[in-house]
Amino acid sequence: MRQFIVVGLGRFGTSVATTLANKEHDVLAIDIDEEKVQEISNQVTHAVQADATSEETLQKLGVDEFDIAIVAIGSNIHGNILATLVLKELGVSHVVVKAQDNLHGKLLSKVGADKVVYPERDMGARVANNLVSANVLDY
Ligand code: ATP
Repeated sequence: MRQFIVVGLGRFGTSVATTLANKEHDVLAIDIDEEKVQEISNQVTHAVQADATSEETLQKLGVDEFDIAIVAIGSNIHGNILATLVLKELGVSHVVVKAQDNLHGKLLSKVGADKVVYPERDMGARVANNLVSANVLDY
C-alpha cells in the first residue's frame, strides 16, 4: 500500500483520488474549496481543506511523508505551478501534474514536476484511436 496526495478535487482529481482509494491506497485529498472536501471525505483516507500553495500548510500536513503527489488543479495555473514547486521543495519524491498545454508542461518540468500529464488531450487521442480501430467500426 502506498501513500498518495491528491491536490485539487475537480473531475480529474476526484477520479484519481477515488480510484486509488478503491485500490486500498492511503489517500490525502486536498482542496481549497470546503464543499469539494466534504464531497470526497467518506471515500478517501483523509480529506482536508487547505491552500496547496502554502508551504507552511503543506508542511503541517506532513506531505514529506508521502511517496507520490498528483497536482490536479486546473484553471488556476498559478496555483497549479506553485503547488508543484512547494511539494517538490518539501521533498515529495514523485510529483505528477496535470498541464493545460505544452508550454505549461515545459514550465512544470522546469519547476521540478517528475511527470506531466495532459488528460483532455490524451483522452481525445484515445477515443479517436478507438473509433478508427477495426472493432468499433465493424458493427
Ligand atoms: P476538472 O477538469 O478536473 O474538473 P478543472 O481543470 O476544471 O478540473 P478546476 O476546477 O479549475 O480544474 O480545479 C480543480 C480543483 O482545484 C478545484 O476544486 C479547486 O477548488 C482546486 N484548487 C484550485 N486552487 C487550489 C489551491 N490553491 N489549493 C487547493 N486546491 C485548489
